[in-house]
Amino acid sequence: MVQSTVLGYPRVGTNRAAKKATEGYWAGKVTEQELQDAHKAIRKERWETLKEAGVDFIPSGGEYTLYDSLLDHSFNFGVIPQRFVDQKLSDVDTYFAMGRGHQDRAKGIDVAANEMGKFFDSNYHIVKVDHTADQEFTLKRNQALEEYEEAKALGIETRPVLFGPVTYLSLVRKARDAPADFKPIALLDKLLPIYVEVLESLKKAGAKEVQLDEQILVTDQGEALAAEFKKAYAELAKVGLPITLTTAYGRVGKSIEFIKDLPISTLHIDLDREPKQLDAVIAAIKPTKINLELGLISGRNIWKNDLNASKALAEKAVAELGSDRVRVGTSSSLLHTPLTIAVENKLTPEQLSWLSFAKEKAGEVTALAAALNGKESAAFEQNAKDIAARREFERTSDSAVRDRVAAITPEQLKRKAEFPVRREAQKAKLNLPKFPTTTIGSFPQTKEIRVARAKFGKGELTKEQYETAMEDEIKSVVAIQNRLGLDLLVHGEPERNDMVQYFGEQLTGFIFTQLGWVQSYGTRYVRPPIVVSDVSRPAPMTVRWSAYAQSVSEKPMKGMLTGPVTILNWSFPRADISKEVQSKQLALALRDEVVDLAEAGIRAIQVDEPAIREGLPLRREDWDAYLTWAVDSFRLSTSGVENDVQVHSHFCYSDFGDIFPHIQRLDADVISIEASKADLKLLDIFKQHGYSNEIGPGVYDIHSPRVPSEQEIKDRLKAFAEVIPADLLIVNPDCGLKTRAWKETEESLTNLVNAAKWARENL
Ligand code: GLN
Ligand code: ZN
Repeated sequence: MVQSTVLGYPRVGTNRAAKKATEGYWAGKVTEQELQDAHKAIRKERWETLKEAGVDFIPSGGEYTLYDSLLDHSFNFGVIPQRFVDQKLSDVDTYFAMGRGHQDRAKGIDVAANEMGKFFDSNYHIVKVDHTADQEFTLKRNQALEEYEEAKALGIETRPVLFGPVTYLSLVRKARDAPADFKPIALLDKLLPIYVEVLESLKKAGAKEVQLDEQILVTDQGEALAAEFKKAYAELAKVGLPITLTTAYGRVGKSIEFIKDLPISTLHIDLDREPKQLDAVIAAIKPTKINLELGLISGRNIWKNDLNASKALAEKAVAELGSDRVRVGTSSSLLHTPLTIAVENKLTPEQLSWLSFAKEKAGEVTALAAALNGKESAAFEQNAKDIAARREFERTSDSAVRDRVAAITPEQLKRKAEFPVRREAQKAKLNLPKFPTTTIGSFPQTKEIRVARAKFGKGELTKEQYETAMEDEIKSVVAIQNRLGLDLLVHGEPERNDMVQYFGEQLTGFIFTQLGWVQSYGTRYVRPPIVVSDVSRPAPMTVRWSAYAQSVSEKPMKGMLTGPVTILNWSFPRADISKEVQSKQLALALRDEVVDLAEAGIRAIQVDEPAIREGLPLRREDWDAYLTWAVDSFRLSTSGVENDVQVHSHFCYSDFGDIFPHIQRLDADVISIEASKADLKLLDIFKQHGYSNEIGPGVYDIHSPRVPSEQEIKDRLKAFAEVIPADLLIVNPDCGLKTRAWKETEESLTNLVNAAKWARENL
C-alpha cells in the first residue's frame, strides 16, 4: 500500500486566528490562557482537516509554532541567551522577546530580538538564536511529546516533527562574542542526548515514527556534513524509533552517497523542485531497506498538481521498490501556501479551477495515494479535466508579449554610453551637490493615507477625491523635503498599498486572492499576487504621480519602481513557463514605464531590487544561470533611456561578497544599500573590487524608531569615505520610511542633511 504524508501545514488558522490571538496577547487584550487555548484550537483544526482528507502521516510537534519553529527548538532546548534570562519575564514572554525583542520603558526593559534570516530560498523567516561556544542544552520543554499526546487525546495519530540536529545547528547563529573559529555544529555531541531523550519519550508514548527535517542536505553545505550526519543518526537510531529523514527545497545531489548508509527507515525527497533526482535516489536506496517518500505535491506553489504526471513518477518508484516502500506527499511543509481556496469569493470559477492551497493539496496527496492503490477517485478525474483546461488557457497567450521577449537584442540590455560619460551628462542635468542627500522612496504611511485608500476601495471616495487626497499628501511630502533641505526628492509612495501588489494590479497577467495569507515571519502575513498569464502594461502606472510631484518641486524628483526580479520573487510565478521568461516580460513592461517617466521629465529613476539576492538558488552551480537572467532583466528594464537619466537601484542588504561582479554588472548609476546594521567591513568588498559607480550605504537603520545623532551620521560618512571615493558617495537612510512615524523621520533626516553639509566641507 502506498501511504500519504504531509510534512507541515500553515499555522494561520481560519480567519487568521493565530495572528489575532498572538497580537491580542501582545496588546494585553488576551490572557495567556486564552492565547494557549486559541493555538490549541488551531492545532485541533489542522489535525482534523488532515485526518478528514485521509492523510496517513499527519504532522505534529515541531512544525506548529506561536512565532517560529526554529525559535521553538532553541527555547525548548534551553538555549536562552543571558540578556533574555536577565529580564525575568514569564516563559511565554521570554519566548516572544527572543523572537521580536521586548521594550517596556516603565519597567526598564529593553532587549533586542535574535537575528532573523530567510528560510532556505523561501520568503519565510526563521529566528536564529545565538549559541555560545560553551552552550549547554536542557530539555526545557518537550513540545514534540506534548503535541503528539494532545493529538492522541483527540483520537488522532500523528507523526511528530523536529528539525534534525544537523540542520538545527546549521541554521542557528553563533554568539557575537564566540571565538571566530567556533561553529554551532561543534555542539552536536552536546545536543544529541536531548534528541535521544525526545525520541525515547515519543517511542514510549506510542509514536510509530518521527519526522526529522534535514533540509540542509539540499545545500552545498550539506555535502560537507557527512561525518556529522553519520554520527548523529547512529546515535539516534539506538532509540529504536523509526526515523523519517526529510529533505526539501532542492536536490540531495552527491549527499545521497552517505544518506543511503544512514540508519533511517524512510527518506523524503523533493520532486516538485527536482524531479530529475528520482532515478539516482531510487538506484542508491534500492539495495537498502530505506523507504522512499516522494514529495510530489508542491509546498511552494499554489497550482493544482497534475496528478496523472505525479502518478507516472510514483509508479516508477513503485516498480523499483514495491508499493510498501513508497509513500507520496507534499514536497515541503505547506506553510508557504495559503490555507484554502474555499474562502475566495472574488476569483472566477475558471481561476479557482487552476489553484490548490494547503487544504486542497492535502486532498491531492490522498487522491494520488488512492490512485496508486488502484482506487482512482472522482477527484482524480476532475483533476485531469482541470489540468487540461489550464493548459488550454496557457495556450491562449499574448503573442505580442511573447514575440517581444523573443526579439530582445543585446543592445536593449545596454545603456547608450558607459558610466563615466553618463555621469557627466547627469551632473549637468541634475546639478546635485557633492554628498547629495536623498531617501529610498516611501515616507510614513499615515493612518489618513490608509483610511483614504480603504474608503476609495469601498467606493466611499470617488476616484477624483482619492487622487486629490494623494496629491495633497505628495505636495506636503515635497514641502517637507524642501524644508529639510534634501537634494534629490521623492514623491513618498502614498498611493501604494504594497511595492509588488501595486504594480501587479496595474499589469495584465496577475490575479489576487482576498484571503491568501502566507506567513512571512511571526504574526506577519503577506498575500502574494499570482502570475497567471503573459504580463504586459496596458497604461503608464506611476507617471501621473511622479509628474505631479515634479510639477510642485523645483528640485529634481526621483521616480520609483519595483524591479522585475522582485515583483516575480514576491509573487507566485507561473509553473508552465520559466521564471526567466516571466522576468523578462515584466522587465519589458517596466522598460516602457521607465521611458515614459523620462519623457515626463523625471531625471532620476529608481528601480528597487531588494529580492534579487534571496532568489539565489541554493546550489552554487545554479547561481550563474539565475544571476545572468536576473541582472539582464534589470538592465532590460532600465536601459531604454538617454544618458542623462540617472538610474538608481536599491537593495535592503549589503552582503554582496559572493555576487559582487553581478552587482557591478547591473550598471546602475547609483545604488543604495543597507549598511547601518552591517559591519563596515562589508564595504571593503566595494573597495577591493574597485566598484565604479555611485553608491549610498545607508547612514542609519530605519527599522527602529531610534533617531540617529548628527555625530553618529558624520562618523559613518567619515568611515564610508575611507573605503569609497568621496565623490561617489551619496547620503541616504538604509531603506524606505513607510513604517516610521513623522516625528522621528524629520528628526533623523535633519541630522542626515546636517551631516552631509559637514561632509561637503570636511571630507
Ligand atoms: N522604494 C521602496 C520604499 O521606499 C523600497 C522598499 C524596500 O526596499 N523594501 O519603501
Ligand atoms: Zn530596502
